[in-house]
Amino acid sequence: MQAFAQEGLPLIETTLLQNLERLAQEAQALTPDSAVSWQARAELRPGSGAEDDVWLHLLAKTSVPLTCQRCMGTVATVLEVDQWYRFVATEDIAMAEDDESEEDLLVMEPHFDLVAVLEDELLMALPLVPMHEECPVAPVFQAGDEALAGPDSGKTAKDEKPNPFAVLAQLKKKN
Ligand SMILES: [Zn+2]
Repeated sequence: MQAFAQEGLPLIETTLLQNLERLAQEAQALTPDSAVSWQARAELRPGSGAEDDVWLHLLAKTSVPLTCQRCMGTVATVLEVDQWYRFVATEDIAMAEDDESEEDLLVMEPHFDLVAVLEDELLMALPLVPMHEECPVAPVFQAGDEALAGPDSGKTAKDEKPNPFAVLAQLKKKN
């Protein structure tokens, strides 16, 4: 990684999504040629110690077919990564400095696995509730939308809107 940083040349790669097993498990009907294109560039920056710190910039973009939680169809979801890392010598240093660092910290290891870091970032970029902006077919069960919209929208829905199931029960009573 040190040599890679001194060269300063970006590493430009394409990795098949089916080779990222944890991510592939989240996807629906992955085509064999689905891939993520990514690039990594390392650089040396003066740090607190005698030697320069190694920093790494990771950029990646891909589209993953996920299951829409409203219509259960496939929704192509764009995942993007744009992240800086600083390498530290040991896990202990990473733990100690993590809170005060804006950048992510990585431990310098002899067999450092950049693809695993890429996969971690892509997994973190996955939406909590994948959903079409507009579903291609009308949802079958409209009243369930609030319940499916996720924890964020759920909070306000609970506070401001009546429970859709309660409304439904009211309507039934009137009829
Ligand atoms: Zn949908």
